[in-house]
Amino acid sequence: MEVTDFLIVGGGIIGLTVAREIKRRFADAKVLLLEKERAVGLHASGRNSGVIHAGFYYSADSLKAKLTRTGNQAMLAYCESKKIPVNRCGKLVVAQNEEELPQLDELLRRGKANSVPLEEVSAEQARQIEPRARTFRRAIFSPTTCSADPVRVIGAMQKDARDEGIEVRMDAMYLRRRNDTVETSQGVVGAGHIINAAGLYADKVARDFGFSEHYRILPFKGLYLYSSEAPGALRTNIYPVPDLRNPFLGVHFTVRDDGRVKIGPTAIPALWREQYRSFDNFKFGEFAEVLFREAGLVLSSSFDFKKLALSEVQKYSRRRMIALASRLAAGVRAEHYTRWGQPGIRAQLLDIKKRKLEMDFVIEGDEKSTHLLNAVSPGWTCSIAFARHVVDQIAATVV
Ligand SMILES: Cc1cc2nc3c(=O)[nH]c(=O)nc-3n(C[C@H](O)[C@H](O)[C@H](O)COP(=O)(O)OP(=O)(O)OC[C@H]3O[C@@H](n4cnc5c(N)ncnc54)[C@H](O)[C@@H]3O)c2cc1C
Repeated sequence: MEVTDFLIVGGGIIGLTVAREIKRRFADAKVLLLEKERAVGLHASGRNSGVIHAGFYYSADSLKAKLTRTGNQAMLAYCESKKIPVNRCGKLVVAQNEEELPQLDELLRRGKANSVPLEEVSAEQARQIEPRARTFRRAIFSPTTCSADPVRVIGAMQKDARDEGIEVRMDAMYLRRRNDTVETSQGVVGAGHIINAAGLYADKVARDFGFSEHYRILPFKGLYLYSSEAPGALRTNIYPVPDLRNPFLGVHFTVRDDGRVKIGPTAIPALWREQYRSFDNFKFGEFAEVLFREAGLVLSSSFDFKKLALSEVQKYSRRRMIALASRLAAGVRAEHYTRWGQPGIRAQLLDIKKRKLEMDFVIEGDEKSTHLLNAVSPGWTCSIAFARHVVDQIAATVV
């Protein structure tokens, strides 16, 4: 039987950054990473917006608040060291009416509490930053929000991991736990410590180890519409004021690393975990469970799931997406937005006892295993800082 000191399940940005951090701290340890696909980054880590967030949405007591500002700096430094282009375009959060102004103030308060630089700007100043921006009276400008290509980042991470002596094994699926070993599609592995970074399947893996008992992952699909305008059509990302009671940020404009613009992502409830297009990856058991959970939330939830689901489903319509984007910027023309981009799916954790969507990252585990649940946005931004945090915890239990 094959034996390793650390076994990581999942070759997304979280699995790779954790594997590298473990190898940095325990240089002599054998580190094996399993990825069920033919390549790393084929799920959320290669399908996200590519926004390196600043960290002002999250309440100060959260892990997200603690890790986003440092994660932002670490991701920027990583991109610089690998010569991966970064668009330091910043971001405007714009208001649509009087009722949204207190929410802007709350974001400013959170930014201050999280030591994130923010500028409160008038509508006139917002238009100096981005002439097409539409806002009611005032806006927030975040100078440290940037964008980069997540596919290039994860490609560089995979190369680094291999150069550092980590084995990254593709087409290798974690199947189940068998006593003190793990059964995989490529044989049985014994491991000193297992780190579960399985994204959309992290709750299932965790339950094999007695964790994630009152959590289930609910998949939410993020669709994007790509603009055909030339690079530079917008100078900065433009976001609406978010509803801070749910973890999604609303349809917004992202300026990509190459200067091109996309709108999205949506947060449409998906019907199974990897439902990217039509019947892709259909699994009846998942479909039945997701439908059961979603129907339950329609009947009763601590947030208004029915309202959220109804408003999100409308975003399958291109016209609806363009209408929402037009509230944020002038000159949005339907003929520029004819191409849907590659969708991504959020591995959003649902607390089935409290019937609420978990807002923060969740880490569970013991001296034998660690489970990284709810690694949702801004998990990509946070990944390097998050890995340090996770390995601090592991080091405290295994040494
Ligand atoms: C639409 C969308 C937009 C987003 N935008 C942003 C953004 O702009 N900025 C930001 O910071 N964050 C963003 N995020 C969040 C970010 O993408 C995630 O936080 C991050 O990618 C999570 O990484 P991960 O490694 O946990 O998950 P994943 O990338 O999903 O990786 C998990 C891996 O585990 C593998 N796996 C699953 N089960 C098994 C198994 N049984 N055996 C072996 N392997 C397995 C999967 O194949 C997958 O490769 C966005 C997410 C989405 C979906």
